[in-house]
Amino acid sequence: MVRCSICKKKIVYQEPLLLVIRDEERESIEKKICATCENKLNALNKFDNPKEIKIAIKYLKSHSTINHDNDITSYLCSILEFSVSNLKIIEVNRESVDVVKYYFDNDSGMYSNIGEKIKTLAKIIALTISILTVIAGIAMINKGIMMNLETRLGNPGTDLILWGIGYTILGPLFSFLTSFFMYGFGELIVRTTELGKKQQRNSSL
Ligand SMILES: [Zn+2]
Repeated sequence: MVRCSICKKKIVYQEPLLLVIRDEERESIEKKICATCENKLNALNKFDNPKEIKIAIKYLKSHSTINHDNDITSYLCSILEFSVSNLKIIEVNRESVDVVKYYFDNDSGMYSNIGEKIKTLAKIIALTISILTVIAGIAMINKGIMMNLETRLGNPGTDLILWGIGYTILGPLFSFLTSFFMYGFGELIVRTTELGKKQQRNSSL
Protein backbone atom coordinates (compact mmCIF):
# COMPACT_ATOMS: atom_id res chain seq x y z
CA MET A 1 0.00 0.00 0.00
CA VAL A 2 1.31 3.41 -0.98
CA ARG A 3 0.69 6.56 0.99
CA CYS A 4 0.98 10.11 -0.30
CA SER A 5 4.15 11.77 1.01
CA ILE A 6 2.33 15.02 1.62
CA CYS A 7 -1.13 14.23 2.97
CA LYS A 8 -0.35 10.64 4.09
CA LYS A 9 -3.57 9.36 2.57
CA LYS A 10 -3.62 6.00 0.87
CA ILE A 11 -3.22 6.15 -2.88
CA VAL A 12 -5.71 3.54 -3.99
CA TYR A 13 -7.14 4.07 -7.42
CA GLN A 14 -4.16 5.00 -9.49
CA GLU A 15 -0.44 4.81 -9.80
CA PRO A 16 1.13 7.30 -7.43
CA LEU A 17 2.41 10.48 -8.98
CA LEU A 18 6.03 11.36 -8.50
CA LEU A 19 7.20 14.59 -6.98
CA VAL A 20 10.83 15.22 -7.83
CA ILE A 21 12.61 17.38 -5.29
CA ARG A 22 15.78 18.81 -6.72
CA ASP A 23 18.52 19.63 -4.34
CA GLU A 24 21.78 21.19 -5.38
CA GLU A 25 23.80 19.53 -2.67
CA ARG A 26 22.28 16.08 -2.90
CA GLU A 27 20.78 13.93 -5.57
CA SER A 28 17.19 14.56 -6.64
CA ILE A 29 14.66 12.84 -4.44
CA GLU A 30 11.48 11.25 -5.73
CA LYS A 31 8.40 11.25 -3.55
CA LYS A 32 5.10 9.57 -4.24
CA ILE A 33 2.13 11.88 -3.98
CA CYS A 34 -1.62 11.71 -4.63
CA ALA A 35 -3.58 13.54 -7.31
CA THR A 36 -5.09 16.00 -4.81
CA CYS A 37 -1.71 17.10 -3.56
CA GLU A 38 -0.36 17.37 -7.09
CA ASN A 39 -3.33 19.58 -7.95
CA LYS A 40 -2.56 21.87 -5.06
CA LEU A 41 1.09 22.08 -6.06
CA ASN A 42 0.09 22.99 -9.59
CA ALA A 43 -2.39 25.56 -8.29
CA LEU A 44 0.51 27.54 -6.86
CA ASN A 45 1.40 28.49 -10.43
CA LYS A 46 -2.06 29.75 -11.35
CA PHE A 47 -1.11 33.39 -11.32
CA ASP A 48 -4.45 34.45 -12.78
CA ASN A 49 -6.32 32.88 -9.88
CA PRO A 50 -5.05 34.20 -6.54
CA LYS A 51 -8.00 32.62 -4.75
CA GLU A 52 -6.91 29.16 -5.82
CA ILE A 53 -3.31 29.91 -4.87
CA LYS A 54 -4.47 30.97 -1.43
CA ILE A 55 -6.43 27.73 -0.94
CA ALA A 56 -3.44 25.69 -2.12
CA ILE A 57 -1.06 27.51 0.24
CA LYS A 58 -3.40 26.87 3.17
CA TYR A 59 -3.72 23.19 2.26
CA LEU A 60 0.00 22.61 1.76
CA LYS A 61 0.94 24.61 4.84
CA SER A 62 -1.28 22.48 7.04
CA HIS A 63 0.41 19.37 5.67
CA SER A 64 3.93 20.74 5.94
CA THR A 65 3.63 21.45 9.66
CA ILE A 66 2.45 17.97 10.60
CA ASN A 67 4.67 16.13 8.15
CA HIS A 68 7.39 13.93 9.60
CA ASP A 69 9.22 13.68 6.31
CA ASN A 70 11.98 16.27 6.55
CA ASP A 71 12.52 16.41 2.80
CA ILE A 72 8.84 17.13 2.18
CA THR A 73 8.67 19.67 5.01
CA SER A 74 11.68 21.64 3.82
CA TYR A 75 10.50 21.41 0.22
CA LEU A 76 7.01 22.68 1.10
CA CYS A 77 8.41 25.43 3.31
CA SER A 78 10.62 26.76 0.55
CA ILE A 79 7.99 26.69 -2.21
CA LEU A 80 5.33 28.11 0.13
CA GLU A 81 7.56 30.99 1.12
CA PHE A 82 8.04 31.75 -2.54
CA SER A 83 4.31 31.37 -3.28
CA VAL A 84 3.24 33.61 -0.42
CA SER A 85 5.47 36.44 -1.62
CA ASN A 86 4.24 35.84 -5.17
CA LEU A 87 0.64 35.93 -4.00
CA LYS A 88 1.24 39.25 -2.28
CA ILE A 89 2.58 40.75 -5.52
CA ILE A 90 -0.36 39.32 -7.47
CA GLU A 91 -2.89 40.64 -4.98
CA VAL A 92 -1.34 44.10 -4.86
CA ASN A 93 -1.27 44.23 -8.67
CA ARG A 94 -4.75 42.82 -8.96
CA GLU A 95 -6.11 45.25 -6.43
CA SER A 96 -4.68 48.23 -8.28
CA VAL A 97 -6.03 46.78 -11.55
CA ASP A 98 -9.45 46.39 -9.91
CA VAL A 99 -9.34 49.97 -8.66
CA VAL A 100 -8.44 51.21 -12.14
CA LYS A 101 -11.16 49.02 -13.65
CA TYR A 102 -13.73 50.33 -11.18
CA TYR A 103 -12.64 53.81 -12.03
CA PHE A 104 -13.28 53.34 -15.71
CA ASP A 105 -16.23 50.95 -15.64
CA ASN A 106 -18.06 53.40 -13.47
CA ASP A 107 -19.96 55.06 -16.29
CA SER A 108 -23.21 53.21 -16.74
CA GLY A 109 -26.79 54.34 -16.73
CA MET A 110 -28.82 56.96 -18.50
CA TYR A 111 -26.28 59.78 -18.42
CA SER A 112 -23.22 57.68 -19.18
CA ASN A 113 -21.50 58.18 -22.47
CA ILE A 114 -23.57 61.32 -22.86
CA GLY A 115 -21.45 62.64 -25.75
CA GLU A 116 -22.28 59.66 -27.97
CA LYS A 117 -25.94 59.91 -26.98
CA ILE A 118 -26.09 63.58 -27.96
CA LYS A 119 -24.51 62.74 -31.32
CA THR A 120 -27.05 59.99 -31.97
CA LEU A 121 -29.90 62.25 -30.86
CA ALA A 122 -28.67 64.99 -33.21
CA LYS A 123 -28.81 62.57 -36.15
CA ILE A 124 -32.29 61.29 -35.19
CA ILE A 125 -33.70 64.80 -34.75
CA ALA A 126 -32.20 66.02 -38.04
CA LEU A 127 -33.56 63.02 -39.93
CA THR A 128 -37.02 63.25 -38.33
CA ILE A 129 -37.40 66.99 -39.00
CA SER A 130 -36.16 66.49 -42.58
CA ILE A 131 -38.71 63.77 -43.26
CA LEU A 132 -41.52 65.81 -41.66
CA THR A 133 -40.69 68.99 -43.61
CA VAL A 134 -40.46 67.03 -46.88
CA ILE A 135 -43.85 65.39 -46.21
CA ALA A 136 -45.37 68.78 -45.28
CA GLY A 137 -43.81 70.39 -48.38
CA ILE A 138 -45.15 67.70 -50.71
CA ALA A 139 -48.59 67.98 -49.09
CA MET A 140 -48.54 71.77 -49.59
CA ILE A 141 -47.48 71.44 -53.25
CA ASN A 142 -50.22 68.85 -53.78
CA LYS A 143 -52.85 71.06 -52.12
CA GLY A 144 -51.72 74.08 -54.20
CA ILE A 145 -51.97 72.14 -57.45
CA MET A 146 -55.47 70.93 -56.47
CA MET A 147 -56.53 74.52 -55.64
CA ASN A 148 -55.24 75.74 -59.01
CA LEU A 149 -57.04 72.93 -60.83
CA GLU A 150 -60.35 73.44 -59.02
CA THR A 151 -60.70 77.16 -59.76
CA ARG A 152 -60.94 79.13 -62.95
CA LEU A 153 -60.20 82.49 -61.34
CA GLY A 154 -56.43 83.01 -61.25
CA ASN A 155 -54.00 80.70 -59.46
CA PRO A 156 -54.83 80.79 -55.72
CA GLY A 157 -52.72 77.70 -55.04
CA THR A 158 -49.43 79.06 -56.40
CA ASP A 159 -48.35 80.63 -53.10
CA LEU A 160 -48.92 77.30 -51.37
CA ILE A 161 -46.91 75.50 -54.08
CA LEU A 162 -43.97 77.89 -53.53
CA TRP A 163 -44.17 77.43 -49.76
CA GLY A 164 -44.23 73.67 -50.33
CA ILE A 165 -41.11 73.80 -52.50
CA GLY A 166 -39.40 75.93 -49.84
CA TYR A 167 -40.30 73.43 -47.11
CA THR A 168 -39.10 70.46 -49.17
CA ILE A 169 -35.71 71.96 -49.96
CA LEU A 170 -34.93 74.24 -47.02
CA GLY A 171 -36.45 72.10 -44.26
CA PRO A 172 -33.88 69.28 -44.45
CA LEU A 173 -31.09 71.79 -45.10
CA PHE A 174 -31.83 73.83 -41.95
CA SER A 175 -32.50 70.81 -39.80
CA PHE A 176 -29.11 69.29 -40.73
CA LEU A 177 -27.31 72.60 -40.34
CA THR A 178 -28.70 73.15 -36.83
CA SER A 179 -28.03 69.52 -35.89
CA PHE A 180 -24.34 70.07 -36.67
CA PHE A 181 -24.11 72.24 -33.56
CA MET A 182 -25.69 69.58 -31.39
CA TYR A 183 -23.50 66.90 -32.98
CA GLY A 184 -20.43 69.04 -32.45
CA PHE A 185 -21.35 69.54 -28.81
CA GLY A 186 -21.65 65.77 -28.38
CA GLU A 187 -18.31 65.25 -30.09
CA LEU A 188 -16.74 67.83 -27.78
CA ILE A 189 -17.98 65.93 -24.73
CA VAL A 190 -16.68 62.62 -26.13
CA ARG A 191 -13.22 64.07 -26.76
CA THR A 192 -13.07 65.77 -23.37
CA THR A 193 -14.12 62.57 -21.58
CA GLU A 194 -11.50 60.53 -23.46
CA LEU A 195 -8.84 63.05 -22.61
CA GLY A 196 -9.83 62.95 -18.95
CA LYS A 197 -9.72 59.14 -18.90
CA LYS A 198 -6.33 59.13 -20.56
CA GLN A 199 -4.98 61.53 -17.94
CA GLN A 200 -6.43 59.46 -15.11
CA ARG A 201 -4.90 56.33 -16.61
CA ASN A 202 -1.51 57.99 -16.94
CA SER A 203 -1.53 59.31 -13.42
CA SER A 204 -2.63 55.96 -11.98
CA LEU A 205 0.20 54.05 -13.67
ZN1 LIG B 1 -1.75 13.76 -0.94
